[in-house]
Amino acid sequence: MKKTTLALAIGVGIAMLSGCSQQLNSSNTTQSAQSLAVANTVQSGIDTENFDQSVRAQDDFFRHVNGKWLNSTDIPSDKSAWGSFYKLADDSDKAVNALIQEAKDSAAQPGSSAQKIGDFYASFMAEQQLNELGYEPIKPLLEKIANVKNYQQLSALMGELSRYNIQVPVGLAVIPDGKDATTNALYMWQSGIGMPDRDYYLKEDEKSAELRAAYLAMVTEKLQLIGEPQAKKKAQTILELETKIAKIMWDRTKTREISLIYNPQTPQQWDKTLGQLDWPKFAQALALPQMDKVIVSQPSFFAELGTLFSQVSVSDWQDYLKYQTVNEFSNLLSEPFAKSHFEFYSKTLRGVTEQQARWQRGVRLTSGTLGEEVGKLYVEKHFSPAAKDRMEELVKNLIEAYRISINDLDWMSDETKQAAQEKLSKFRYKIGYPNKWREYNFEIKADDLVGNVMRAAEFESTRQISMIGKPVDKEQWEMTPQTVNAYYHPLKNEIVFPAAILQPPFFNMEADDAVNYGGIGAVIGHELGHGFDDQGAQFDGDGNIRNWWHEADLAKFKTRGDALVEQYGNYKPFDDAHVNGRLTLGENIGDLGGLTVAYKAYQLSLKDKPRQVLDGYTPEQRFFIGFAQVWRAKVREAALRERLVTDNHSPAEYRANGSLTNFTPFYEAFALKEGDKLYKPENERVKIW
Ligand SMILES: [Zn+2]
Repeated sequence: MKKTTLALAIGVGIAMLSGCSQQLNSSNTTQSAQSLAVANTVQSGIDTENFDQSVRAQDDFFRHVNGKWLNSTDIPSDKSAWGSFYKLADDSDKAVNALIQEAKDSAAQPGSSAQKIGDFYASFMAEQQLNELGYEPIKPLLEKIANVKNYQQLSALMGELSRYNIQVPVGLAVIPDGKDATTNALYMWQSGIGMPDRDYYLKEDEKSAELRAAYLAMVTEKLQLIGEPQAKKKAQTILELETKIAKIMWDRTKTREISLIYNPQTPQQWDKTLGQLDWPKFAQALALPQMDKVIVSQPSFFAELGTLFSQVSVSDWQDYLKYQTVNEFSNLLSEPFAKSHFEFYSKTLRGVTEQQARWQRGVRLTSGTLGEEVGKLYVEKHFSPAAKDRMEELVKNLIEAYRISINDLDWMSDETKQAAQEKLSKFRYKIGYPNKWREYNFEIKADDLVGNVMRAAEFESTRQISMIGKPVDKEQWEMTPQTVNAYYHPLKNEIVFPAAILQPPFFNMEADDAVNYGGIGAVIGHELGHGFDDQGAQFDGDGNIRNWWHEADLAKFKTRGDALVEQYGNYKPFDDAHVNGRLTLGENIGDLGGLTVAYKAYQLSLKDKPRQVLDGYTPEQRFFIGFAQVWRAKVREAALRERLVTDNHSPAEYRANGSLTNFTPFYEAFALKEGDKLYKPENERVKIW
């Protein structure tokens, strides 16, 4: 999946519901707009056929609810994982595919939505042409790299390559200024390695060594494919250089520390930090405007990069940049490039055995590149005003439940409660799709895939750069409507729910409230909860980094968080690998808070309503079943190992069981007793919000 230019998923960036990139930028078919009407007969919305009655609810609720599905489901050979999220994402790819075909078949005017979408997709599907071209389309870039003579030119080149998403050690992002969230600022973020995390370069165990060997083989192969002499030797040098970069990088947990990653520097200070890496040249090549500051996220990384930059020869940097360029475009070139990319990134790293069908890769690329252009068509067909209305009502109920929940906290002073309420009252929410659609004003040709992608990247870079120093556009979305996900944006204090997540098992217009509160209700609560997780709690209601906590309360909040860190750190999917409790803390706080508040909102909604037993389950039981259904998922071993290192979300089963084991109403609904595996004595259950 392509990353967006200048909008890296950075630590102060958005908090997503799910971290798996596979479900990003896709959409759905299962629920057409017509069927999104409240039915007259209430159904439970529970998939009882997925239950495994041989596993007791009190011992492992995740497997009790999803066990039969887990036992009988094979992960598709072209996927690294499968389950609720992935199925929806896959369905929605099919829906988007239908929209694209329609666009392609229409006699579209040049410059119209249909022409852009149809021709972009066609340029990816022109397999024979791409195979004939080989790496011809990126030759101009490779020549530019080859022509560099000195560090000044190299600095300018890195700036220029950034315009096309090509990875260089200086990562950039344009997002609201953490100390003045009404204005956009340019952030610097550590970057520059081809494997998923610094750990892959530095760990000494056997598995890591094997992965490095496979990576080295891929780098070698890609250099050979572009006709580089001494490819093997150069690949070795590139791996060594990336290892040096990895060494000076901060680990992921440290990059979550808000107090450490906000470091404004003047352009002069910043230029000095970078040593021989000539910032004015870099900035000029990227056409950056005059700025009075940049915000540096990892100052020590960049200071050491400044030293490293001139220790490495210009020619080694050239080899490194050639490789980064081929790597970025591999999926857009002839088959040998795409295959080499697949072999390492999908097969070796994530255990996927078969490359995804070309149409689906084309759909995802189109959907990622022309996101809202595709989104416009998507919501016309697959989203109803009725769904938006019901969702809005749910969001309001959840916010009200959060308000009551904060008031009822027994560990927080009134002073801090009041400040928390103030933040809560300033939450904004977005449902379905943007009020204002983004434009994609660049040329798209049916026979120029790499050109299309480069023009798209340049257009997006220019758009982002034009926002630096300008007021924040509150209407802008960071996800497309066809994405099966949701997010909280701490710098805007907003929660966002794209159209594509608003379908079963998350959101079921035809089902009774219980599963909806357990599903999408807990999702809404989770996103609200990010406003009050270990990171979010450091931002105020206007999106500014500001401490609104009474000191003693903050200490208690941290102690409670530490208990979650310990709990999740003890979850071991493999004998030799456990969940990183510190890395996943924000998500785990979000999950626990989301469950708590969704339950409260559901209880409020039940007041004065008749209590119904459906499918043999009480309303409370159905709520928890709805919650556990959402996390139905299977992940390949290799992919799960990768996520334990890189994903700030806990694996699905712990997201379900880990929250429930702390939540007393769950104990009551399923009569948990001492000795049950999910049982914890009341004083050990973590309660935060
Ligand atoms: Zn989240």
